[in-house]
Amino acid sequence: MSLENLEPIVSLAKRRGFIFQSSEIYGGLSSCYDYGPLGVELKNNVKRAWWKAMVQERNDVVGLDAAILMHPKTWEASGHIAGFTDPLVDCKDCKKRWRADHLLEAKGIKPDFRPCEWDKHNVVCPDCGGDLTDVRKFNLMFKTFMGALEDNTSQIYLRPETCQGIYVNFLNVQQSMRKKIPFGVAQIGKAFRNEITPGNFTFRTREFEQMEQQYFIHPDQKKEVFEMWKKARMQWYLDFGMKKENLQFRQHKSDELAHYAAEAWDIEYNYPGMGFKELAGIHDRGNWDLSRHSEYSGQDLSYFDQEKNEKFIPHIVETSDGADRATLAFLIDAYEEIDARSGSDDAKHEKEYVLRLHKDLAPIKIAILPLSKKEPLQNLSNEIQNSLRGTWMTQHDETGSIGKRYRRQDEIGTPYCVTVDFDSLEDKKVTVRDRDTMEQERVDIGELKDYFNSKFYN
Ligand SMILES: [Zn+2]
Repeated sequence: MSLENLEPIVSLAKRRGFIFQSSEIYGGLSSCYDYGPLGVELKNNVKRAWWKAMVQERNDVVGLDAAILMHPKTWEASGHIAGFTDPLVDCKDCKKRWRADHLLEAKGIKPDFRPCEWDKHNVVCPDCGGDLTDVRKFNLMFKTFMGALEDNTSQIYLRPETCQGIYVNFLNVQQSMRKKIPFGVAQIGKAFRNEITPGNFTFRTREFEQMEQQYFIHPDQKKEVFEMWKKARMQWYLDFGMKKENLQFRQHKSDELAHYAAEAWDIEYNYPGMGFKELAGIHDRGNWDLSRHSEYSGQDLSYFDQEKNEKFIPHIVETSDGADRATLAFLIDAYEEIDARSGSDDAKHEKEYVLRLHKDLAPIKIAILPLSKKEPLQNLSNEIQNSLRGTWMTQHDETGSIGKRYRRQDEIGTPYCVTVDFDSLEDKKVTVRDRDTMEQERVDIGELKDYFNSKFYN
């Protein structure tokens, strides 16, 4: 099924504790979001699944967790101080701020900000028709100060991308781990960009989390490595249940390539109401990064291949996935509205909601539902929960009809519900219900752990 816009997802995310507006009681902070109790589970599972595929299951990739704050020279070397800017104009009348390139594109004009070019087009404020200021470059990095003095010497930045922490540690990682090229370094962490026009829920936010991997190679290996990562990154989304028809590759045209990139492909997801937009990227960064850091730091960041007796600055193929975007896309992709399918009780509705999340991603793996709140069933269901919670994230729910409780769990994507009824006291069995098939099975309480082991790890 396809949604017309993100509204049902935003609504479910708030109603069920996945994602809240940041600082909501103060009216919210624009484009910042907080992950609620189920959202943090889902996002952690997404990050864990990525780490497992990228680090745990490979011999050629190791992990890193670099600091958000870095030496300011990093951003001179990376080109961000000079080049990471948006062209901005202000309306002299209503004071509204606009992206000059967007205003030109809206008139079908290719943005060109060489001196005098902007003036030629006589662009006015789209809101009030007022005069606009000259174009000025607005750097997208968040500035802050380190130490007690707020002057230029202590000014530093919140990192606008995580990868620079990997480049400056190239030698540390390569030497301490005795890595031979080709090898990769993976990292998950926050990055910050002071975007002028964020939006679309958690799709574009000023604070976001990246899952990036930098693969250091000899330039001769480029073609093969690039294809390997394109395939691997697409397969990862498919392996975790994303529908094939909602995913596509798109190659960047030469005029949209970043300053460091020689070739770039996006994996795009078909977001409701937005169409196919970037979910992940695979980038050929050439040897730009390590060359620049060699130049700016004065440290030789080249690699010596002993077998071939060859010294060179490694090239980099980067894979970049957004943890927030992936979490949002998995949420959207798993979401289904279906006609009422179960129960004839008071809780029956016209519509039911199911999140068909991959089992590894589901925030709650098993819900334990005692049929009664009274003692003997409570004790038994607590025992059952305690026997499972060491291995799986569980939830205990005892309020409302059983049909209502099943639907609550369907709505948050819980793969299995365990119902503890009065027969359980006698036959030592419980009913296990499957979210997707709705099939119910009687399972011996003593065998529950083995049962779920085979369900989750087969
Ligand atoms: Zn105006």
